[in-house]
Amino acid sequence: MRLFYNIRTLYTPLGRTALRGGKMREIAEIDNAAILVGDDGRIVNIGPFVEEELHLAAFKTEEQLPIETIDCRGLVALPGFVDSHTHCVFAGERSKEFTMRAEGRSYQEIARMGGGIRESVRQVREASSEEIFQHSKRFVERALALGTTLMEIKSGYGLSTEDERKLLQAASQIAEETAMEVVTTYLGAHAVPNGISQSEYVREVCTNQLPALHSMAEFCDVFMDEGYFTKEETIEICTAAKKLGMKIRLHADELAETNGAQTAVELGAFSADHLLKVSDAGIVALAKSEHTVATLLPMTALSLRTPYAPARKLIDGGCAVAIATDCNPGSSMSENMQFVFTLAVIGMQMSPEEALTAATLNGAAALDRAETHGSLERNKVADFVLYDIPRLEYLPYHIAMSDVVSVIKHGEVVAGERLS
Ligand SMILES: [Zn+2]
Repeated sequence: MRLFYNIRTLYTPLGRTALRGGKMREIAEIDNAAILVGDDGRIVNIGPFVEEELHLAAFKTEEQLPIETIDCRGLVALPGFVDSHTHCVFAGERSKEFTMRAEGRSYQEIARMGGGIRESVRQVREASSEEIFQHSKRFVERALALGTTLMEIKSGYGLSTEDERKLLQAASQIAEETAMEVVTTYLGAHAVPNGISQSEYVREVCTNQLPALHSMAEFCDVFMDEGYFTKEETIEICTAAKKLGMKIRLHADELAETNGAQTAVELGAFSADHLLKVSDAGIVALAKSEHTVATLLPMTALSLRTPYAPARKLIDGGCAVAIATDCNPGSSMSENMQFVFTLAVIGMQMSPEEALTAATLNGAAALDRAETHGSLERNKVADFVLYDIPRLEYLPYHIAMSDVVSVIKHGEVVAGERLS
């Protein structure tokens, strides 16, 4: 057992499901905190540091266990970030398109000129799974050093059974060979590859790719939007995925309002993502949904120079909002959740407390991990980050910089300074 003590202040949302609306602000704040971690990497006890109580909690479980004590040096502790939307297995880069957008061309225009997703597809098809792994591992390791301890990784730049398999293999290799915990998503319906009609490709996804790849991914995602996949095609693909035991998440209402939020709710999706153009009816549907989290990706809006998603309307309307990086080579080239946190506050008028819930517990709920991840409480995994900051508000306030000192995953320091 390990006792992490001398935490100046610990901030965490509480719960085992997503927090909605006004509840997103309810953050527990514990001064002079300590966290007792069991050998299984789970939290045995947590609270204000009263030495006897924490030791007693340990002794109740087994007799006279030796406890290793770790001095957290008066640092602030937060749950590890959950980055619930990334495309961070890819090959190459697309910085030329970034410059073209700066010159005034739109994302759709660049896609029509042969750039966009199809350019990443070309790069992935030329690379081996090992090359994709080596390339992508660097982004994941930096994300870990910046405080992310659980990350979703999507395929979607292969668009054929063999090339999607390479991406999912690279994602599972990342899970095995780095300290990052990974949830994988199959996104074969990201775009239609060259040389095949849209309807033929939907059939190819349902009858070939999904049966071949479903065991490699927990979730199935579809880019449902204008110019990409229709509502009918999305339902067809997700129904086939659900029959194979997969869970659903959707890219929804990003480029245009196409009933994406409502479709995500109808399909029982764990998350509807982007939502830049979500309608009032979509917000009502999300608020009433059983478990569909509204995942907002403000770095993509910044990168594409589009208005941010209506976070205030979503939260005030009673939705559960999460935030994530959307890390990808086209529209959001960053693995930095702390910068997303800042954008949530500056760009989307979320409070630091709401942004914390969105970046941790609600992200975990969007990945169906809220039972075990996303907050610091008994029996959850001991995934937390120590920061050299005076209080929570300082995190978004210190723009684009990292004050991370140590990143702790399952009770072990996996990045930053060793503690003793
Ligand atoms: Zn995406």
